Amino acid sequence: MIHECISYSFDSNVFVIRDSKTILIDAGTGMTDSLNRFITSFKLDLVINTHCHIDHVGGNPKNVPIAIGEKDAEDLEKGTEKTIFDFHFPVFEGFKVSKKLKDGDVIETENYRLEVLHTPGHTDGSICLYDEAKKIMFSGDTFFIKGIGRTDLPSGNEEALKESLERLASLDIEKVYPGHGGVGKCDIESILNFWF
Ligand SMILES: [Zn+2]
Repeated sequence: MIHECISYSFDSNVFVIRDSKTILIDAGTGMTDSLNRFITSFKLDLVINTHCHIDHVGGNPKNVPIAIGEKDAEDLEKGTEKTIFDFHFPVFEGFKVSKKLKDGDVIETENYRLEVLHTPGHTDGSICLYDEAKKIMFSGDTFFIKGIGRTDLPSGNEEALKESLERLASLDIEKVYPGHGGVGKCDIESILNFWF
């Protein structure tokens, strides 16, 4: 099953797939106690970060393998301007990356099969995770139920985001778990028509 923690303020949403393996998808800023407690209440096997932004990775637990899109991996390890951009966070020590994800990689548990889709635009290493059989997608900040991610931050690119969304629009998706805001059904075509 999927546990959802829909966040407010700065933190990203946090999702946990609990199955034969327990997988955390994004982790918030790490500065919100209730969210940290939610994360540490699970015995995690893997963390997947949809991209390197501090509001998604700051709460990554220690001692759990972390996977992230290959183009955002170095930023997560070192904490570059791309990771932290204009936030005033005290210190970012970086996180060791165990797996650099590429388009087409698959992360499987007994009942879930998450395909990694490289969807640049919000950052150049952003990924979405798609389970074709379940028709669900974890979209990070690539798109939200009624909107799209910012493209004005380091490595952001509006044209790349448009192309990513055009690719995603052809997929059969019944439920989206985005990086911010509510979870639900989403019409990518109308997002494309509205924003581009
Ligand atoms: Zn972001």
